[in-house]
Amino acid sequence: MTPRVLLLGGTGDALAIARTLGAPHVYSLAGLGRVPADLACAVRVGGFGGAEGLARFLADENIALVFDATHPYAAQISANAARACDAAQVPYWALRRAPWQPQPGDDWRGVGGWRGVIEALAPFARPLFTLGREPLAHLHEVPPRQYWTIRCLEAHPGHARARIIDARGPFTAEGERALFTEARIDVVVSKNSGGAATEAKLAVARELGLPVVMMQRPPLPPAQREFASAQEATGALDDYIKRSFSA
Ligand code: NAP
Repeated sequence: MTPRVLLLGGTGDALAIARTLGAPHVYSLAGLGRVPADLACAVRVGGFGGAEGLARFLADENIALVFDATHPYAAQISANAARACDAAQVPYWALRRAPWQPQPGDDWRGVGGWRGVIEALAPFARPLFTLGREPLAHLHEVPPRQYWTIRCLEAHPGHARARIIDARGPFTAEGERALFTEARIDVVVSKNSGGAATEAKLAVARELGLPVVMMQRPPLPPAQREFASAQEATGALDDYIKRSFSA
């Protein structure tokens, strides 16, 4: 069987890399979002069954390199991938998108997890959540004086004290300004995802003098090679594939 690259994805950057991969290689998704149907490479969906399951997959599918382009907050799959690669003696490369840095005028309030978010939001009335689906599991906790606006990829029937906006980036400053004004947002809740696609909310928060409750990044395992952008990753993968598989 031809040696293959396994690309772990679920982000816009990962999809951009997947679009450059040919037929023998595999793009893997957890199965929470859209599954692209127009890729030249193989696409597989769903968990592997922990690091052990992933190590078995690497052996069974003749994987020669794992490239981790998952989201910086998807810490479990990254830890599993590093462990599985170590066990299977397969190189582990990763896209490690640089975090956003606060700029003059920013009022960022770092928190470690969901409890920290709730505490940091106590003085506010109209938070905008932009950190995925997690707030949907806490709708029963909306304090009486708050109304939540939650933007995530999930459609939701709605809630008396929350509005759920099902939207996918990239977002523009113009669009963010309109949303912040119309929803009377007084604080933004965010992960420090980095990258340009969802950065406009930070510029608009700065412009309007709104604080940002920023969830800290989880620790990620070191990779043998780390890349800062999809473009850099694609160039290196292309070289690797040409050198290793085309001989
Ligand atoms: P996670 O906590 O790190 O992973 C949970 C489990 O989901 C993993 O143990 C693994 O199951 C499975 N999994 C995750 N990514 C996978 C992949 N690419 N292919 C196959 N299985 C995968 O991940 P998460 O935070 O729930 O995120 C899930 C997916 O959404 C990730 O692929 C990530 O790139 C994407 N995403 C996450 C965020 C975020 O904020 N967390 C934002 C945007 C996109 P097994 O243990 O069974 O292998």
